[in-house]
Amino acid sequence: MRIAVASFSHETCTFCPNITTLEAWEKGGIRYGEEALNTEGEGKSYITGYKEAAEREKDVELVGILRTGWPATVGMGSWLTTEAFDTIADRIMEGLKEAGELDGVLLALHGAMAVMGIPRPEAELARRVRKVVGRVPIMVTLDLHANEDVELANAVDAVFILKTYPHLDAHEIGVTAARCMIETVRGNFKPTMAVRKPGIICASVFQASEHYPMKEVYDRCRWWEEKGVYCASVAPGFAYADVPDVGFSVFVVTNDDHELAEEAAQDLSDLVWSLREALTRPLPKAREGVADVIRMVREGTKPVVIAYHDDRLGDGTHILKELIDQGAKNFCSTSIADPKVLEMLAENHKVGDTITVRIGGWVHPISGDPVEITGRIEYLGSVDWVETGPMGKGAKRHLDLVASLDLDDNNHVVITQRLFAPMSADPLKAIGIDVDSLDIVEIKSRVHHKAFWDTWSRVDYPIDPPGTTPADLSTLHYENIPWDIYPIGEKWRR
Ligand SMILES: [Zn+2]
Repeated sequence: MRIAVASFSHETCTFCPNITTLEAWEKGGIRYGEEALNTEGEGKSYITGYKEAAEREKDVELVGILRTGWPATVGMGSWLTTEAFDTIADRIMEGLKEAGELDGVLLALHGAMAVMGIPRPEAELARRVRKVVGRVPIMVTLDLHANEDVELANAVDAVFILKTYPHLDAHEIGVTAARCMIETVRGNFKPTMAVRKPGIICASVFQASEHYPMKEVYDRCRWWEEKGVYCASVAPGFAYADVPDVGFSVFVVTNDDHELAEEAAQDLSDLVWSLREALTRPLPKAREGVADVIRMVREGTKPVVIAYHDDRLGDGTHILKELIDQGAKNFCSTSIADPKVLEMLAENHKVGDTITVRIGGWVHPISGDPVEITGRIEYLGSVDWVETGPMGKGAKRHLDLVASLDLDDNNHVVITQRLFAPMSADPLKAIGIDVDSLDIVEIKSRVHHKAFWDTWSRVDYPIDPPGTTPADLSTLHYENIPWDIYPIGEKWRR
C-alpha cells in the first residue's frame, strides 16, 4: 500500500499588513520527496502520527511529496499571492504524478489559509489532487483554527481536526487519519461524513480547549466517539482571515453510518450555538489591564502571565509602555520584534554596555509608538535550546540574534528579530533570565503558552490592547464573511 503525503499549511491573518509571497515560502523552506517526511529535530506533528501508523503495518509505505515550512514573514503573513498558491500546488501535483501508483493521499493542512482570488484554498487544493489521483481516498488533517465548510467535505473522503488548544494532539490526529486511510484502502472502513456550520465567529483567545466553554465541546466530541463515531471534530476557526467559510465548523466521520454522523454533527452544532455568548466576551484594555495585574501582584497573587494576545506582528509596545509608566517591578517583556535595533546592538555594543534605544512600533501604527528604554545589555547573540515544555517537546530551537536588556528593578526586555513567544521558560533561561525571580511575564500569545506557563503562574491574564487581531471582532472591517454570522454580522448589529 502506497500513501502519498503532502503538507501546505498557513494561518493567514488578512488584517496584517504584508502579503505572503512565493519568495517568503521559499525562504521559510520547502522540502521535497523523502525529505518531506524527515521529522528529525522537530516536535510531534501530523507527519509523525502518519509515520507511526504506517510503521505499525508491514505493507504500508508513505511517499513524501512536499512539505512547506512556515513562510518567512515579519509576524503573521497576510493574503497569499495567487502565484504562491498556484506554484506550490503545481509542485504537489507534479510530485503526485511522478510518485507512480498510489492507493491514497494524506494532506496535512491548516485550514485557515487565505489566497487572493481563491475563496476556499484547502478545498481547491484537494480538488486539484483529486484530478491527478482519481478515485483513491484523500484524507485531511487540520488545525483547530481551520475555517472550512462543505466544499472541503465534498472534495475529500475524511477530515480530522485537532481537539486541543494549546495544540498537543497533532500526532494523535495524524495516527487517527492514517489508521482510517489504511483501513479504508483495505476495504474495512467506509468513511462517511457530516458537516455543520454553527454560524459563529470568535477570537482565538477564547478557544482554550481545557477551559469553559470549549472544554464542554471537546468533552462532547469524546462522548460521541465513545458512542461509535470514529472521529468528531469541532474547529472554532480563525477569525482573522476574512474569508467566506470563516468561523466554527463541525466535521464528523463514521464508518458507514450516515445517521449517526448527522446526529452527532447536529448535536455538536447545537451545543456550540448554546455557548455563543461565553465565546465572545470583552477583555480589559492595556492601561486598566496592567493596573489590575500590578494590584494583584501587590496583594500577593503572583506570578502573573500577561497574554498580549493581539500582537501578530511582534512590534507591539502597548503593554511594555504601561508596565514602565505604571512602575511595575520584576517583569519580563518577552519579546519586542525589532531587527534594526538588534543589528545596531550587534555592530556597536557588547554585553555589559548601558544604552538608550527606541524599540518596537515600526511595522504598523496599530502596534503603538516606539518605546524608549535605558538598560544594561545582559545578553546579545544567537541562542539555541531544546524545548522541554509540552509545546514542541524535544524540538531543537534556534534564534539567530536576540538581546535582553536589564532595566533595573529586576525588569527585563527581550528584543527579537521577528514575532516571538516563549512556549516555556527554556528560551528565557537560555539567555540568562532568572525566571523564578519574576512577578510578571508578558507573552505575545493567546493560548499556546498556557501549556507550560499555567503550571508556573498563579494567573493567566489576557489583555486586549489595540492590535491586528483584537478580541472585539466588531472593530475589524470584514468584506467576505457571511452576512448573518454571530455576533458581528448584519443580523446582529444593533
Ligand atoms: Zn492553531
